Amino acid sequence: TDLMEARSNTPTDADLTRWDRDHHLHPWASTDSWRKDDYMRINTADGIYLWDSTGKKFIDGPGGMWCVQIGYGRKDMADAIAKQVVEMPYASPWSSTSEPAAVLARRIAEMTPGDLNTVFFTTGGSTAVDTALRTVQFYNNRLGRPDKKLIIAREKGYHGSTYLASSVTGKERFNTKFDKSDLVRFLPDVNPYGRPEGVSLEDWCDQKVADLETLIAEEGAENIGCFIAEPILCSGGVIVPPPGYHQRTLEVCRANDILYISDEVVTGFGRLGHWFASQEVFGIEPDMITCAKGLTSGYLPLGACIVSDALMTAMEEPEGAEVFYNGFTYSGHPVSCAAALKNIEIMEDEDILGHVQRVAPHFQDRLRAIGERFDIVGDVRGMGLLGCIECRLDLPRKSLEADLKFGARLDAVCEEMGLMLRPFGNMAVFSPPLIISKEETDRMFDIMEAGLEKLSAEYDG
Ligand code: PMP
Repeated sequence: TDLMEARSNTPTDADLTRWDRDHHLHPWASTDSWRKDDYMRINTADGIYLWDSTGKKFIDGPGGMWCVQIGYGRKDMADAIAKQVVEMPYASPWSSTSEPAAVLARRIAEMTPGDLNTVFFTTGGSTAVDTALRTVQFYNNRLGRPDKKLIIAREKGYHGSTYLASSVTGKERFNTKFDKSDLVRFLPDVNPYGRPEGVSLEDWCDQKVADLETLIAEEGAENIGCFIAEPILCSGGVIVPPPGYHQRTLEVCRANDILYISDEVVTGFGRLGHWFASQEVFGIEPDMITCAKGLTSGYLPLGACIVSDALMTAMEEPEGAEVFYNGFTYSGHPVSCAAALKNIEIMEDEDILGHVQRVAPHFQDRLRAIGERFDIVGDVRGMGLLGCIECRLDLPRKSLEADLKFGARLDAVCEEMGLMLRPFGNMAVFSPPLIISKEETDRMFDIMEAGLEKLSAEYDG
């Protein structure tokens, strides 16, 4: 059979394509194409570059999936991982701990704002979000407030693919044909782009804060457990809420005894030039922070939910103790934790945060220049090393269908020139490895501009 062949022979390129098509169900695959055989196969990677199975080289525009902070192919990372595998590859979190988990928990506690000092390790971002949301349930049940359960989330937010994390995800197409928890209420889009004409950013912020207040008034604060928000809605199209929004929504939550969860799965670990963005970029100290991705630079899976002292103390019960029945076989996995520690060490030794702070203004300048130059571009936005180009949908055109696929079309022309982007409908997003140099940043934007020239030419007719 195929599987026996796979064990006995070195597979050919055609074998791999066939086996992948016939036996590998990809995430986010479409039912009309999940047997397709044109997935790019990445064979090697180094720095900010990837090589596919034909030997073609690409700049990794999306940085994996917003996660490859220190870049690919680090020998020192490989050594740190190998050392931990040889010494002690697994410790049962049911009854034991490990040195890497203890050291990493303390390191993260030092990096996080305020009294966020307790770290619960998970397997990735979705399980970190689930853990945060379950912690809210545990907390309110513990306090004898079983009705305080509703979760406020936002349209276009993305929080993951497990049941509860996908339930708080506000991207409609992510939830068709799946059922969602009925505990969630969504706030309307916070994107300043597309706000009604004549509405200033200040007015927009007032409206968005009012949306939250209205929802709380409608549902009753006594029924609402928490608000979950990404500092920047990344998968929603790198949406940066208006200035002041984060602080004001946190104040509203505090005034109504609603816990605030900041989902920093993308913004954590340097993407905006700081370990975490909540406090240092947006001036808030949330009750919980979730992170993953950049924590290990994508070398191994790991996530974390970081909890405030206030919350931990409130859940403690000297009498009638209960077990916090939440955990994973791979909670605090020693090898993943060792990878995270090495990642943090590399980021510190090489001043990656300083590097991001130095390169980001140039990155953002080049992005804004695209917005000025191309008619087909309706909006460009971003912060740190995060960017998004959104195609206008209000031009006379040959085909609206083509515009709605703008992201995929721009990605296709850029890939020909050696740059990979991440398409989302009429948007293309990018978040390159944080080690990208100024020259490589220029190369990336030069290719994007050449790609946009090509697409623009198609709009003249
Ligand atoms: N939260 C946010 C903000 C994310 O962007 C993601 C992943 N893109 C997740 C949670 C889920 O993380 P994971 O895919 O590691 O489960």
